[in-house]
Amino acid sequence: MTRIAARLNRIKPSPSSMAGQRARELRAQGRDIVGLTAGEPDFDTPPNVCEAAARAMASSRTKYTDVGGTPELKEAIAGKFRRDNGLAYRPQEIVAGTGGKQIVFNALMCTVEAGDEVIVPTPYWVSYPDIVLLADGKPVFVDCPPGNGFKLRPEDLEAAITPRTKWLVLNAPNNPSGATYTLEELQGLAKVLLRHPHVWVLTDDIYEHVLYDGRRFATIAQAEPALKERTLTVNGVSKSYAMTGWRLGYGAGPAELIKAMVKLQSQSTSNPSSITQAATVEALTGPQGFMEERKRIFQQRRDFMVEALNRLPGIECHAPEGAFYLFPSCRQLIGRRTPAGQALRSDEDFVLHLLDAHNLAVLQGGAYGVSPFFRISFAASQAKLEEGLARLRSACLALA
Ligand code: PLP
Repeated sequence: MTRIAARLNRIKPSPSSMAGQRARELRAQGRDIVGLTAGEPDFDTPPNVCEAAARAMASSRTKYTDVGGTPELKEAIAGKFRRDNGLAYRPQEIVAGTGGKQIVFNALMCTVEAGDEVIVPTPYWVSYPDIVLLADGKPVFVDCPPGNGFKLRPEDLEAAITPRTKWLVLNAPNNPSGATYTLEELQGLAKVLLRHPHVWVLTDDIYEHVLYDGRRFATIAQAEPALKERTLTVNGVSKSYAMTGWRLGYGAGPAELIKAMVKLQSQSTSNPSSITQAATVEALTGPQGFMEERKRIFQQRRDFMVEALNRLPGIECHAPEGAFYLFPSCRQLIGRRTPAGQALRSDEDFVLHLLDAHNLAVLQGGAYGVSPFFRISFAASQAKLEEGLARLRSACLALA
C-alpha cells in the first residue's frame, strides 16, 4: 500500500473543487443538477486575449521561460499596479505563477516555520488555512461577523497578534462574503500593523475588478506606503478577465521574498505556461472597457438574487459589495425536518439535502469557517439562477 505522508492528514481537499466535481459526477449519472458552486465568471475570455495566445503559439513562443515570468509579462504586471493601484514595483519585486493559488502557496511555504501563526479573518477562502497547515503553521481565525459587515476590525486584529504572528491574510472583495474595505478602513488596520513590525501582510486582491455600487477598490500597500516593504500583493487574471483555466496569478512584494518564491517554483512547476503569459500581457495591457459591462450584469444578478432570497422563508441574505457570491444565513432552518423526517443539524446537512432531494449544488458556510451559512455563486445565467431559486424555494417550503 502507498504510504501517504502525514502532512497530508493535516489538510482536506478543496471543498469548492470537490463540490464542482461531485456535481459533474451526478450529471454524468443522469441527474439534472443545477450547480451554483462555480468560482469562475460564466463569461468567455475576451477575444483579443485568445488571439494573443494564438499568435504566441504561431510564433513558437512555446518554450520554457524565466521561472517567475517573461520580462514582457513583468512589465505588464508592473504597468497594471501603476495604473490601477498607484503602486511602483521593479521586475525583481514581481513573480508570476500558475494561478493566484500557487502564489499564496509559495509565499506561505517560503516563510512559515513550524508553529508560526497566520491570522485568517473568517469567513475565508477555503485554501488559506490548509496551506498554512501544510506549511507547519497555525491558522489563527478572527471572527468577522455579519454585524461588522464581515470585516476585520482594528481592535480584533490587535487582539489576535502575538509574537508568533507571521502574516495577516486579507482578501477583499471577499470570497465568500463579498466584503470590501475602503481606503480609510485599510488605514485603520494599517495603524495596528505599524505597531507590530514583525507581521507581514498577504493581500489577495483577485476580485479587485468585481465591485458594485460604484465602490472604488483599495489595497493595503497603497493605503499605507510604509507597509509596502512587508506586503505581498496577490492578484491574477482568473476572475477579472474570465481566465480561470489559463492559470495565471502574480504577486508583488519585497525582492527577498520574491526571490525565495521563484526558487521554490523552480523546483516545482517552473514557469507558468508561456502561451498563457503572452495572453496575460494582452489582458493586462489591452482594452479594459469590457469589465464595466460584465460588472453591470453581475450587479443586476446580485440585486435580483438578494431580493428573491430574502423573500424565502428562513433565509436572510445581505447584499455583497463585490465578488460574485451570495452568503445567506440559514440559521432559521436549523433544527427543522425534511419531508423524509431528517433533522437539519447544520448548514452541511442543509446543503446535502438540497443536493440529494432538490438537485441543487451550493456550498456550506462551514467550509468558509462560518456556520450556519451557505454560498451561492451568481456567476451563472439568469435562467440557471431562477431555476436554482425555484429549487431552493421548494426545499425551504417543504421543511417542517
Ligand atoms: N483567491 C481567492 C479569494 C479565490 O476565490 C480564488 C479562486 O476561487 C483564488 C485566489 C485562486 O485563483 P486562481 O485561479 O488565480 O488560482
